[in-house]
Parts: sequence; C-alpha cells; structure tokens
Amino acid sequence: MIVITQPNATEVQINRIVARVRELGLDAQISRGASRVIIGVIGPEALLREKPIATMPGVEAIVPVLKPYRLASLDSRAPSSVAVGHVRVGGNEEVVLISGPCSVESTEQILSIAKIVKNAGAKILRGGAFKPRTSPYSFQGLREEGLRFLAEARAETGLPVITEIMDARDLPVIERYADCLQIGTRNMQNFSLLKEIGRSRLPVLLKRGFSATLNEFIMSAEYILNEGNMNVLLCERGIRTFETATRYTLDLSAVPLLKAKTHLPVIVDPTHALGVRELVPQMSLAAVAAGADALMIEVHDSPELAKSDGDQALTPDIFADLVPRLRAVAAAIGRAL
Ligand code: PEP
Ligand code: MN
Repeated sequence: MIVITQPNATEVQINRIVARVRELGLDAQISRGASRVIIGVIGPEALLREKPIATMPGVEAIVPVLKPYRLASLDSRAPSSVAVGHVRVGGNEEVVLISGPCSVESTEQILSIAKIVKNAGAKILRGGAFKPRTSPYSFQGLREEGLRFLAEARAETGLPVITEIMDARDLPVIERYADCLQIGTRNMQNFSLLKEIGRSRLPVLLKRGFSATLNEFIMSAEYILNEGNMNVLLCERGIRTFETATRYTLDLSAVPLLKAKTHLPVIVDPTHALGVRELVPQMSLAAVAAGADALMIEVHDSPELAKSDGDQALTPDIFADLVPRLRAVAAAIGRAL
C-alpha cells in the first residue's frame, strides 16, 4: 500500500505516520517529492486494520497495491477449469452448454427435457428443486423428490446435474443427488451460506447478485474459495438498471472483465437477464462472442404449462436451431462447442 501525504503535512505528522507503520511491524519507505511525501508500506496490509492510518493527520490518500480478492485473482493462478461430474468448464477452448427447465416438475418432465437438450448438444442438466420465488404463493419446488427426479434423469442420460441450494440445512440432501450447487442471485451475499458451501466437496455455480458490482461478486466467490472449495464458476445473469424492456440488463462486459480479474470460469445466463424468450438466442450468440466458458439456457417442452419462468424458456425447436449458430460463433473465435 502507498500512503500519500497532504501538501502541507508537517514533519511531526509524517514522522507519526511512519512510526505507526513501523510499530505494526511493517516497513516504511519514504520518497520526498516537491510538495508531498509518499510512504511505501511493505508487509501484510491486513495488519493496518488494527490501527488504521487513513484518518491520521497529514494523510491525504491511501492506495492499495494488492487486490482484496487474493484467491480468485488471476495474479494467484492461471485460468482454472472446474469439473461438473465428468464435464470440464473453463480453462480450455470448449464452450459448454448447460440447459434444462427452471423447475423440476415431474419425473416425466425432467427426463423428457433432459433428452431434448442432450440431443441438441447440452452437456449439463440444470433444474431447480428448491425455488427462490418472489411470492410465497408461487410454486416452491419439489424439494427432495425433485432431486431424486434429477438423479434419475442423470442416470438415464449421463448428463451431470446442477441444482440450487437456498438453505445450508439442505446441503446434506442436495449433496446426495447433485453434481454442482447453484447459488442464486438473491443469495450472492448470504455469507453464512457461502461459508457452508465453501466446505462442500461439490463445485459451486455462483450467480451475480442483480445489484452487485463485479468486485462484490468476486468477493463472494472469495468467501467460498477461502473455506477451501476452489471449484467456483461465476455466472452473469443480468443486473437491475433503469431499463424496463427486459427483466434485467445482461452485462456482457462482465465476461471479459471477470476473465481479466480472476482465474475462474465465467458462465452467462441470458434467460434470467432477458426474461423474454425471443431475445435469448441473439444474446446467447453475443455471450459466446464475448468469451463465456459456458451458457446456461432454460428450455421447456411445454413453456405455457411451466410452473416457473415459462415466458423466457426456449422451446425445444428454438434451442435446437440455436446450437449450430452458437457453434459457428465459437469457431469464429477459435473455440469448440
Ligand atoms: C434460476 O436459475 O432459475 C434462478 C432463479 O436464477 P436467478 O437466481 O438468477 O434469478
Ligand atoms: Mn428460472
């Protein structure tokens, strides 16, 4: 960290700042300019939390040198890949398609959709058994029964399964059935839940909070990594802006930015960002062009009967028509799909 003093800082003030830095066991290197003194602080910055120096007389600004996210940072390791069952996401040239219905509704429904998306090119099945609904009167999910149906669909199709966890108390039962945990947008800053799943053996698909900055998003991933679970996938799913034409605003700039800041694979979920079926194909193509390592797209064989998110689910035909076009965009940027 670098401490910049005010132009009128006195020698006594500067000496006090340097003394405080050294008291904490940190090294202080002093450079004198024409009007200011710059103090380079060397050593673990965390020590400064005990005795902050930002508010000391004579200090104008503090410039951190290290990123607040140590484990997620691209400085700490090369781009990583995460295994979801037998499928690897990130770190290589392949773009992975994750698909399925919003909610698991019955064994027939999940199996039928699993087969449809697999035939079209999906490599991972995603379905919700515990649903975070805005209204308590809306369908809340089939819970353990839904997990069982997901596991049956995996046995039948070979597709690994991702499902959402909303409450740490459900972790043991979800771990029995799923290959990957999803943290929904509304729980991105549920820090106690993040710590619990940080101790799980399962990988985690972490969705961006719809009001979260990228730094806040990465800090939430850091909570999971810090508990020892290094298998985190970051998912951009739209943020809330003043625009009302779409359900949220898909922030595609998040893809190259997250890839420049972190080593974690980046997924785009255009379905929840747009909320309108017709817009999903184009923005899916754009997401691949932006460098996404995977796409998560909701598909339903009878969207008009879906228990959640029917308006934004692609029909099997639209999905099947989209996949070759996604493949063409991936090829154009030197990736497979
Ligand atoms: C979902 O994936 O079905 C979902 C509810 O997503 P989000 O948390 O992004 O709203
Ligand atoms: Mn949904």
